[in-house]
Amino acid sequence: MLPFYALERYEGNEALFNLVMMSIVSTYAGEPLHLHAEGLRGTGKTTIMRSARGILPPIERIKGCVYNCDPYDPHCPHHRYLSQEEIDAIGTEMIPMPFLEISHSAKVGTVAGSIDLARLTDPNHPEAHMLPGLIPQAHRGILFIDEINRLADTSPEITDILLDVMGNKPGHLQIEEAGLPAVEIIVNVSVWAASNPDEDPGPLEEIRRQLSDRFDMVCYMGRPHSVDILSNMLAENSHQKKARLYKQRKVVVDESKNEAYRQQIVRWAEQYDKTELPDFLRNFIARLYIKHNLESIRAIEAMQQGAVLRCLIKNRDKVQISDVTETIPLVLKHRVDGDTLVRIINDLDTRGTKEGILSFKNRKDKKKEVEEPEYFQHDARSLKDLSRGELINTEKNLNPTDY
Ligand SMILES: [Zn+2]
Repeated sequence: MLPFYALERYEGNEALFNLVMMSIVSTYAGEPLHLHAEGLRGTGKTTIMRSARGILPPIERIKGCVYNCDPYDPHCPHHRYLSQEEIDAIGTEMIPMPFLEISHSAKVGTVAGSIDLARLTDPNHPEAHMLPGLIPQAHRGILFIDEINRLADTSPEITDILLDVMGNKPGHLQIEEAGLPAVEIIVNVSVWAASNPDEDPGPLEEIRRQLSDRFDMVCYMGRPHSVDILSNMLAENSHQKKARLYKQRKVVVDESKNEAYRQQIVRWAEQYDKTELPDFLRNFIARLYIKHNLESIRAIEAMQQGAVLRCLIKNRDKVQISDVTETIPLVLKHRVDGDTLVRIINDLDTRGTKEGILSFKNRKDKKKEVEEPEYFQHDARSLKDLSRGELINTEKNLNPTDY
């Protein structure tokens, strides 16, 4: 797999690169940001997400703790009641931020936790003990699920677990095993998922609306349009290039480039703790909720979180209105119907959010796009016919000097 820094970036996948970065910064700072990338096969969504593993910064945990206990805030059944002195005596260690993947064949026990058979059958000292599953082991890191729509369709139990884990920040997980007391544990994990809504069983919001709403942001992967980019992608994916790399026995990774990312992420996470969303932007988001009768409080919380993170990864120290408006389509696309989204974005009337509508339309009318290359422009023109209004004024009124 190519390292993160070497992946081809173009207009259609830029949003996912940004979201991945925002989610890592937020996770490192201790607040999960759940992402869902939708798109056709071959648009590289899973490649971007999986290769982000190489740039994850290390975290400090209590030595040997499979639950990744923070030495300053231990939460696991073994360490949560220990005193600072007892924890100091155990010691700490640095590990890479966890990145674990739930596969489609996964069982509830593997995902949540199960009884530790090795310890139960130990002839010298048999003991009933919980073995934490993938989710508690991903604490303070990333949990990746490919084809989330299929998982939601075929594994209702795992879906229910995800609903709990993603229900609050931090989330909760109940590990149950017959004959043992249930263990309730905190899990601070960002869930990253990918799916192709055009393949069976269809878009996640139609399979399990509740789970779809748990994702803070959804981005739809566009296709590359530039000849240069496409030909670079062909070269990278060619058999000849892969054969050459295979002979060298490895992909040559410039570790200093990954390290630069890691240090940047740690700096942004420190800033994230201190960067507030200005009041006028908070009001702006609140008005949007009321005016458009949005159902999900999660949606506007994600707007606030996303706007601050976007500002940081753009290397600014003050959140701007564009940080909010650029975040809106990613937050609302899976939560409101198409007409409402068009109306909201049209109200905002900024260039960035128009792009948001276009990618939304792209998904609904995929066939049309194939038959009609001019499709984007047609849609862009028809937007002029839709009503615009108060929000543009509101925005100016709220912030008359800056914008
Ligand atoms: Zn622990």
